[in-house]
Amino acid sequence: MVCAARKDANGRSINYLRVSVTDRCNLRCFYCTPVHGLNLIPHSEILSYEEILAVVEAGLNLGINKVRVTGGEPLMRRGLIGFIEKLARLEGISEVALTTNGVNLGQMAHELKAAGLSRINISLDSLKRQAFARITGLDALDSVLEGIKIAQQAGFEPIKINTVVIGGSNEDQVEDFARLTIDKPLEVRFIEFMPVGDKISWNPGRVISAAWVRERIERSFGPLKPLQGRKPQDGPAIRFSIEGAKGTIGFINAMSGHTCADCNRLRLTADGHIRPCLFSDLEFDVKNLLRQVADREQIVALLEQAIAKKPASRTAAPCRRPMSAIGG
Ligand code: SAM
Repeated sequence: MVCAARKDANGRSINYLRVSVTDRCNLRCFYCTPVHGLNLIPHSEILSYEEILAVVEAGLNLGINKVRVTGGEPLMRRGLIGFIEKLARLEGISEVALTTNGVNLGQMAHELKAAGLSRINISLDSLKRQAFARITGLDALDSVLEGIKIAQQAGFEPIKINTVVIGGSNEDQVEDFARLTIDKPLEVRFIEFMPVGDKISWNPGRVISAAWVRERIERSFGPLKPLQGRKPQDGPAIRFSIEGAKGTIGFINAMSGHTCADCNRLRLTADGHIRPCLFSDLEFDVKNLLRQVADREQIVALLEQAIAKKPASRTAAPCRRPMSAIGG
């Protein structure tokens, strides 16, 4: 069954679902962990894989054909390989992608490939061992770098590296990240720091704009070459390359630019809520439906409502849920 993607009230085709399979994580990134500690969702409130698959199957009726598995740290959840296998086999699904911190990727990359995973994004905010440990709370840079290497050997290409640039934390490393793209077919994407979840570590003074990062890279490597022709998998990134480089550099102007006009996604939180916009706390409770009636038509209708209520652009209202629960 292949259905055309449903359009929202603003003419955007919604064909992409980001699924948080857990709010647990093996890292404690200072900007992602609420200062008062994580309020973990009780296991009984986390959707089972069967429940998530029921939501994805309902989404297929509305033309949702791309799924990204995220968290929390998705590789922390038991049974993930079997789940990916089932997702990838659903008729009408064209892509199953994963976002991970990479700590356990080395052990799982080959199995993930065999299960049918299409693409991997790895979050990495520092290439220096001590700074990595300071940002994430774990001395695990070597495991992540090894995970990237093994994922490449397993055949994932291109691998995207997502780097949130935060003032006073890692802005001194943007050239190091850019340099990674010269010899390797990696796509390094610089993301602006967003006010999600914990507002205490976020403040406007720590947001480093994509323009600043670009200027710094160009000072070291010369003018960046814009890449022609946007591909759907570029998502909100605007892509460039250093002259002669094997890889590419992307900028996600989440704060300084407008990524809303092209937004094609819904999110499913680990505790079973459909969220039309990362920045808005408007949510639709699909878990109750799944656990009370489990009727496909009603789940489709709820997804339709969520699509209809997708805000035209980010609201100024604060978003209270931490990224780990929403699914970053
Ligand atoms: N554990 C997985 C990982 O590390 O990729 C998936 C979840 S993590 C919440 C997803 C992404 O959200 C990471 O790249 C993280 O850096 C990013 N993130 C978290 N809080 C953010 C914020 N306030 N602004 C920008 N990106 C953020």
